[in-house]
Amino acid sequence: MKKGLVIKSTGSWFAVEDENGEVFDCKVKGNFRMKGIKSTNPVAVGDKVDFIIQDDPESHFDKNRGWITAIEDRKNYIVRRSPNLSKQSHVIAANIDQAVLIATIAWPVTTTTFIDRFLASAEAYRIPVLLVFNKTDRYSSDQTEKMNELIAIYSKIGYKCLKTSAEKKTGWDDLKENLKDKTNVINGHSGVGKSTLINLLQPGLNLKTSKISDTHKTGKHTTAFTALYKLSFGGYIIDTPGIKGFGMLHMEAWEISHYFPEIFRISKNCQYNNCSHTHEPGCAVKDAVENGEVAQSRFISYLGLLEGDDKYRKPY
Ligand code: GDP
Ligand code: ZN
Repeated sequence: MKKGLVIKSTGSWFAVEDENGEVFDCKVKGNFRMKGIKSTNPVAVGDKVDFIIQDDPESHFDKNRGWITAIEDRKNYIVRRSPNLSKQSHVIAANIDQAVLIATIAWPVTTTTFIDRFLASAEAYRIPVLLVFNKTDRYSSDQTEKMNELIAIYSKIGYKCLKTSAEKKTGWDDLKENLKDKTNVINGHSGVGKSTLINLLQPGLNLKTSKISDTHKTGKHTTAFTALYKLSFGGYIIDTPGIKGFGMLHMEAWEISHYFPEIFRISKNCQYNNCSHTHEPGCAVKDAVENGEVAQSRFISYLGLLEGDDKYRKPY
């Protein structure tokens, strides 16, 4: 029995890399399922698995084939709901160390609403986020000021923020250092510079990630496999076709504030312990918004989610 990491998945075949970097094409033995997960696929990229090398004397080409016999418990995983199977979801990737959101103040605009929804989803998935503000070379002084305001807001909450310019190649060492030795999923609107950044980090890597938003818009399907790509300086980038790195999770109203860490922290001082921070007396969160402790933009994003804008709740 060997241990390995699933680095590519077609849904029925899995490429499993062992500790020595050797890759085996594996299938899943039997029909085992993860506890509590209703998914259409039992194994996903990022899974740590046990496998046995197939030993079939009749076979001519099975040297690097095997069977997956067990999966280790996942620390987290991201899903996509299957459009046809409403109760079932498809696990896109497991054991993600970091979700990287590439954002731009302009060309295109990444709104705080979008950033906050992304952060809330990542909190729900229990995936740490790295916020990267790209295209710093193009900003006017007003836009630079806006970026610095946002960085101040998000750093204060505890999110790591970086500034980069793919054009001027600034912020590079910092970005590499922060991706190193981690399994990263890269997200962001079309045009923010995802493919440019990835290509600079790892020349020759032409990921589908960069084409995801366009694919989504036209509704075309790309080849359905997800893969982990090795970064030469250590770590991986997850490439997922057809969707943004992950979509908005469905959240019940009562749990939304749990995914806004600073709001959740302050809500412990509200008069009512089921305070929704909308109309209740003695609301510590509203006080904190008024005195600037909680950013207005964050509170607006929280209210937007609470009001249930369904458009944003569906997975992308
Ligand atoms: P993606 O859709 O997120 O993959 O974005 P691309 O990597 O295709 O970049 C979109 C456009 O923005 C391209 O024309 C890039 O050359 C340009 N771009 C990317 N990063 C920067 C940057 O830091 N500064 C400037 N000025 N342009 C950039
Ligand atoms: Zn409250």
